[in-house]
Amino acid sequence: MAGSFGSVTETELGLKRRARRMARELTIIHPDAHCELDHSSPLELAVATILSAQCTDQRVNEVTPALFAKYPSAAAYAGADRAELEEMIKPTGSFRNKTDSLIKLGQALVERYDGEVPGKLVELLTLPGIGRKTANVILGNAFDVPGLTVDTHFQRLVGRWQWTSEVDPVKIETAVGKLIEKRDWTMFSHRIIFHGRRVCHARKPACGACLLAKDCPAYGTGPTGFEAAAKLVKGPRAAEIVAQATPA
Ligand code: SF4
Repeated sequence: MAGSFGSVTETELGLKRRARRMARELTIIHPDAHCELDHSSPLELAVATILSAQCTDQRVNEVTPALFAKYPSAAAYAGADRAELEEMIKPTGSFRNKTDSLIKLGQALVERYDGEVPGKLVELLTLPGIGRKTANVILGNAFDVPGLTVDTHFQRLVGRWQWTSEVDPVKIETAVGKLIEKRDWTMFSHRIIFHGRRVCHARKPACGACLLAKDCPAYGTGPTGFEAAAKLVKGPRAAEIVAQATPA
C-alpha cells in the first residue's frame, strides 16, 4: 500500500494513476510551461541558474543580456575582474558568493572540460556552484536529457498531493521519477513549477479555481469559492486558467 488519499487507502497503482492524471491535467492548465530563464547555450543556462538562487527569474533575465555579451565564454568568467562582475550581477542578490561561483565555474570548465559545459549529471555535479537541481535544469533544457527539477514549488506541491512523504530533494526526485514517465520529466518539472507560481501558492492556493481539485488531497487549503479563488490565480494566462475551471 502506498498511502492514503483523504479517508481512502491508496495502492501504489492507484497513486501512479492519480499522479499521471494530474500530470495530464497540468499539460492542459499550463500549455505555455517552459524554462523561464533566458539562454541560448548550456553555459548561459548554467550562469543564469546560478544567479537564480534566492532571486526571481525575471530579475535574472534583466541582468543576463549585458552579462552574456560581456562574458561570452567560460574563459571570460575564469579571467573576470571580480569587482566588475560583482557590479553586473548585484541586482540578483548574494552577489559576492555568486561572483565566486561564476569565476570558479569558468576556471573549472577551462581546466577540465575545454571550456564546454559537460552534458552528464556526474560531471556537472563536480562543478562549482552546480548542485543537483541546477544540474537537472541544465540537462533538461540545454541537452534534452530528462531531468526532474526539485525546487521549493515542486517540493510543496508533491507534498500537498501526497505523491510522497519524503522531504529530502533527492528522495523526492526518486519517488516522483517512479510515478512520471522519464521522457516527460523536464516538461513536467516546468508545469509543476508554473502551477506553484500561478495557482497553488504557498500561502493561499487558488483551490476553487484549480482543475486538479478532484485529485488533490489538499483541496481546501486555500479558498474553495470560485470567485475568491479566481482572484488568486496569477500570470499572463490567469484568465484562461480561471476559464478552464469555471463551474458548469
Ligand atoms: S486544489 Fe488547491 S492545494 Fe490542490 S493543487 Fe489545486 S490549488 Fe493546490
